Amino acid sequence: MGLTGIQIFKLLPKTNCGDCGVPTCLAFAMNLASGKAELDKCPHVSDEAKEQLASESAPPIRPVTIGTGDLAVKIGGETVLFRHEKTFVNPPGLATVVSTDEDDPSVQGKIDRFKECQFDRVGLLLKSEMFVVSDTSGDGAKLTALAKKVSDATGAALVLKSDNVDALKSAAGELKDRKPLIYAATSANVDALGELAREVACPLAVKGDGTLESVIALTEKLTGMGLKDLVLDTGTRDLKKAFEEQIKIRRAALKDKFRPLGFPTILMANEMAEGLMEEALVAATFVAKYGGVIALSDLQPHVMFPLFLERLNIYTDPQRPMTAEQGIYPINNPDENSPVLVTCNFSLTYFIVSGEIESSRVPAWLCVQDTEGLSVMTAWAAGKFSGESVGQFINKCGIKDKVKHQKIVIPGYAAGISGELEEELPGWSVMVGPREASQIPKYLKGWSSS
Ligand code: SF4
Repeated sequence: MGLTGIQIFKLLPKTNCGDCGVPTCLAFAMNLASGKAELDKCPHVSDEAKEQLASESAPPIRPVTIGTGDLAVKIGGETVLFRHEKTFVNPPGLATVVSTDEDDPSVQGKIDRFKECQFDRVGLLLKSEMFVVSDTSGDGAKLTALAKKVSDATGAALVLKSDNVDALKSAAGELKDRKPLIYAATSANVDALGELAREVACPLAVKGDGTLESVIALTEKLTGMGLKDLVLDTGTRDLKKAFEEQIKIRRAALKDKFRPLGFPTILMANEMAEGLMEEALVAATFVAKYGGVIALSDLQPHVMFPLFLERLNIYTDPQRPMTAEQGIYPINNPDENSPVLVTCNFSLTYFIVSGEIESSRVPAWLCVQDTEGLSVMTAWAAGKFSGESVGQFINKCGIKDKVKHQKIVIPGYAAGISGELEEELPGWSVMVGPREASQIPKYLKGWSSS
């Protein structure tokens, strides 16, 4: 909430009646300011104050959802300028542009690549989520048919793009249940597209003439018409200027609480570059700052994978390490004679170690201890991967019932815990494994339970 407790207090009835569950209006105001209470708990607040408090409590950048179901893309809703301040919450949707002037094999190729271009990474599926369906001839029937084809085949969230209002009316009317983003209201068609977006209840992009002033004029007009779900395209196609505008928009929304720019943005990387590789560089720029939807002319694995990773890294909460669940992971169908390895639950460590074990084809048990997402060395230094903690985990986790040998392999970087661990696990041999995960296959091939 933007208002302080004292500012909120000034808007409350100040009768201290206690009906809200706390004894005074000031205490209630403080709870509201810290997000611990909701305004409707006070039955006596005036309509005027309600309106003011509701608008003040709205997020500085409106969250907008495009599409429905599993592939719906939520953008906006950000509250910080820099990821290290808190976290970025809604990653940009990565979209592929498909046009009505493309032939069937080209369209089908993009649909196929959309489905195939997916990567498993630290337990997450990295993939594209959107298509920009672009009309090049003003033909509403063609735009609708292509959008349906793409949507039916992929389930992707859609951006319906046309300069022709009638074409957009036709496509948005047919596909309104799939909540496409209508692209784009300009100074020439703002009334008609504002009306359309309201009628079909879909989000609407605005496109300026290359200035922020033109965007502001459009959003003010559309919010005046009652529209809330807007997405901004300044119209700029020069990378440097577009980059600066993204920062100005974000700063204006967050620092100045300037509502006309308090919306997520859409960037047409395909219109700012020549060739897919250059588009990828443009897209990478706006993944970092501060794109909501980023469109490329095609999707190819060698282009998308780095973008997916960049997006994952930037939109991962830096204060919460990614973790794997504590437990025993059987890999390659282990039995009672298979080696037992132990590691930490930092997600990246888990996936690298389990991947190396899997590729070795040696059946093994991987015991993953909860180290609060810290890597082996950090957890060891912090006392969360000590001989005592690992010993307690091994004693409790149930691995002793699964094997008949008494050997455990610890990570090479945690060699220092071996003595203490042997004390915790009487009768067990503690073996120090390789430091680098890449050496695990070789190590396991030479391992013997006897
Ligand atoms: S219910 Fe409203 S008027 Fe009564 S104490 Fe709470 S905030 Fe004040």
